[in-house]
Amino acid sequence: CGIVGYVGNAGRSANHGALDVILEGLRRLEYRGYDSAGLAVVTEAGIESRKKSGKLANLVGVLEADPLPASLTGIGHTRWATHGGPTDANAHPHLADEGNLAMIHNGIIENFSELKAKLRTEGVEFISDTDTEVAAALLGSIYRADGEGDLTRSMELTASQLEGAFTLLAVHAEHPGVVVAARRNSPLVLGLGDGENFLGSDVSGFIDFTRRAVELGQDQIVTITPDSHTITDFSGNPAEGKEFHVDWDA
Ligand code: GLU
Repeated sequence: CGIVGYVGNAGRSANHGALDVILEGLRRLEYRGYDSAGLAVVTEAGIESRKKSGKLANLVGVLEADPLPASLTGIGHTRWATHGGPTDANAHPHLADEGNLAMIHNGIIENFSELKAKLRTEGVEFISDTDTEVAAALLGSIYRADGEGDLTRSMELTASQLEGAFTLLAVHAEHPGVVVAARRNSPLVLGLGDGENFLGSDVSGFIDFTRRAVELGQDQIVTITPDSHTITDFSGNPAEGKEFHVDWDA
């Protein structure tokens, strides 16, 4: 339902921690309604994730009991359940590639049961009832095979196989400082900062941090690092979004 992504660079003064940016963005996105919340950050030790059904306050409670190490790369989600009840296990992020990959998702993957059956024959085990976990597992499987460890390429190949409506964001332990996203029939906006970049399901996700935004087009992939953003189509061809200034008051 609500999506936030963040990458920052420790050397820049404008920098914030991933956790603060994500929680602030999720708070701004609460107006959309949701039943669960969760986030993942990339640390030196790998991916760390926390998630909880109910209000954001519940997630904050989990974070207080089990704090996250500081990080400058992360993704956060508020869920409006469509596939699987509003439980902790079904909350996003969903992990894959032996816990090295975390994914969040808005929308519905219509062909998830065919993909789930196929991934099961490859030995993948699922722990949630969501369509999202199937997309995460597919990205993990492609990353280890045809994607050859290239996160952007792997997301392109994954998105090409998915039907329905999705905004997907993923982080991988092998790529600290990178968030990759895909969108089809579901909104995604990029926020441009100074030594940091943002993603949101709408500009509320980063309005406290930057007013420079880029609306992504249909069937596009965007990869952000603290100092760059690249946009492609699902085949890897360069593509462009539409830059605009957010001038309304938050
Ligand atoms: N279909 C996904 C789920 O049920 C995503 C729902 C959403 O957009 O929040 O987990």
